[in-house]
Amino acid sequence: MSNDFFDELESDLIWEEWSAASQDKRAETPDFSATIEDNYEFTKKPINTNNTASPTATPAIVTNNTASPRIANFNPNQNKNNWENEKISNFNTSFEVPHIFPNLKPQTLPPLEKGHTRIITVGGHNEVGKNLSVMQYNWEIILIDWGLQFPESTMLGAKYCLPDISFLIPLKDKIKGIVITHGHLDHIGGLKHILPTLGFPPIYWAKLTIWLIKKQLEDAQILDKAKLFVMHPEDDGIFNIGLFKVEFFRENHNIPDACWIYIETPNARMVYTWDFKFDFTPSIDKPADLSKIAEIGARWIDLLMSDSTNSLKEWFTQTEADIWVELHKIISESQGRIVIATFASLIGRIHQIIESAEKTGRTVFLNGRSMVENVRIGRELGYIKCNPNTIRRLTNAIDSVPDNKTIILTTWSQWEEFSGLYRMAYWEHPIIKIRPGDNVILSSNPIPGNERWVVNLMNELIKLGASLYTKDWMDIHTSGHASREEQKIMINLVKPKFFMPAHWELFMRVAHKKTAMSLWIPDKNVFLTDNGSIIDIDADRVIRKNKYKLKLEDIIVDGQWIGVATSHIIDARGQMMKAWVVVIVFKADEKSKALLGPLKIETRGLAYLDEVREVHRMIIKKARTSFENTVKDIPDIEEKELIKIVKKDVESYLQYKIEREPMVIPTVVYV
Ligand SMILES: [Zn+2]
Repeated sequence: MSNDFFDELESDLIWEEWSAASQDKRAETPDFSATIEDNYEFTKKPINTNNTASPTATPAIVTNNTASPRIANFNPNQNKNNWENEKISNFNTSFEVPHIFPNLKPQTLPPLEKGHTRIITVGGHNEVGKNLSVMQYNWEIILIDWGLQFPESTMLGAKYCLPDISFLIPLKDKIKGIVITHGHLDHIGGLKHILPTLGFPPIYWAKLTIWLIKKQLEDAQILDKAKLFVMHPEDDGIFNIGLFKVEFFRENHNIPDACWIYIETPNARMVYTWDFKFDFTPSIDKPADLSKIAEIGARWIDLLMSDSTNSLKEWFTQTEADIWVELHKIISESQGRIVIATFASLIGRIHQIIESAEKTGRTVFLNGRSMVENVRIGRELGYIKCNPNTIRRLTNAIDSVPDNKTIILTTWSQWEEFSGLYRMAYWEHPIIKIRPGDNVILSSNPIPGNERWVVNLMNELIKLGASLYTKDWMDIHTSGHASREEQKIMINLVKPKFFMPAHWELFMRVAHKKTAMSLWIPDKNVFLTDNGSIIDIDADRVIRKNKYKLKLEDIIVDGQWIGVATSHIIDARGQMMKAWVVVIVFKADEKSKALLGPLKIETRGLAYLDEVREVHRMIIKKARTSFENTVKDIPDIEEKELIKIVKKDVESYLQYKIEREPMVIPTVVYV
């Protein structure tokens, strides 16, 4: 999923484009085409590659302006209007992206025999997010996806989490490329942090995905070093990344240009279907290519790795076409302002809303950086087609438009403080405050674990007099993931010998396993893996789970720092979360260490009002005794050791006397 929830980035971009020039993509040298600059004009450039040579031969970025037949119709400037040029005042663009990966002791992988293939599930197998898989054949490695994860509740202060790639760093020269399934942040959001560490291996992805990544690489100031190839699922066929044969083919998700990936080594054929559903009437996307899946299934697939997100949901996931009907009904029947909160990555849904606005004579005001950016990119790439006057950036100019002629389209985010709707509901938004007569549509789904604040938000909206529409009452949101019958279709079409449920929590993957076993795949041929699991495929194409498992850390990005979630700082924050903090200030003579004057004490969250005086008195007495006795016993004790002893003494004493465990912070001021 949830991917629905990863809605914050994207781009326009310098890229390199790969295409196959012949009917038989495997036999002929593909034609390398196109690089673009920010003027969006293209050129063709030959590349010397074939089935055994990698296209990673470092194609240069070319900046001349010969038009490309492939995208000759594309003129991103044609639809530009004033709203894109309006001043952005509140965007924080000062965040510097940290690049230095934690210096963890690298683990040594168990030996892999020559001619064998290995898969390592690094991320996405115990959580929603930070998807990353590693494939190795002999001494060549490719990576699939590189996402981020929003932090667990225990990772206090973390902005987001990344997969632990410390074991890959010694092998970075072996990495031949990274293939990306789609543009959600849990599949692309970690790239900006690790590309420099890994030496910028080439990256392969479909059209929209590459645009969504440019902003990240620009922010990280590494765009000029990145090697990016755009893939065309319908045209490119099989191409080589080192010894791996790779093919992209089209799927449906809730973002355009999502792809499944076929990967072949000399001893294994694998299909990677991460985040998919079958939608035969999708919004602004093509239906999944079923005939292609069947064709790939005829290749005798050894292993299918497939999306388990909706394994517990029966039947089929609802089509986007149904959502358009319900959304348009609400928009056309509402009288006042309409506020719609959705994920900025749901470009198809946004297109539906804009289309409905045009039919009902409303103007769409865009709120939130990611919403503005995604609409801009969606329009430039031709995914969103509309009259330029239909959309505007949200400014005070909305006050001059009648309520029944407006739609406010705002972001919906993982965290409440980043949600535009949250600020509107609690009157913290500079322009929009929800009031009676407003119609609020939640065209989205809260991420599991965040339901409580969404309930609070809904209560607040109703208290303010708004009419509220959610997916529980009307069909105004649908998942991007396959339900059980779709999972069965996928397994039946691919016909794998072995199966690996992938993505999300263990109980969902177990349900997916049961679905596979209800078909024809035996128990022993299904692999339930964790982050760090290693799957080896031998020369006879037999697949086994390796007894060795990598011990992976939770890597967190905390502002401009990358570290492990078990860091002492995060532990300290956890302790402070309990709000039991005792700060004791000792004033002492620099030479004799004799205490001068009374101790100063501050506590937070430790004592109730009717006991605070007594508790403070106890702490001061214990702290003074501990300090003086320690100095007496060890006159030349170092300050660090002295503080450690006093801290431990006071903490133990409080635990014994009042059965509470605050964090005690002694400080010595020498005079
Ligand atoms: Zn996704």
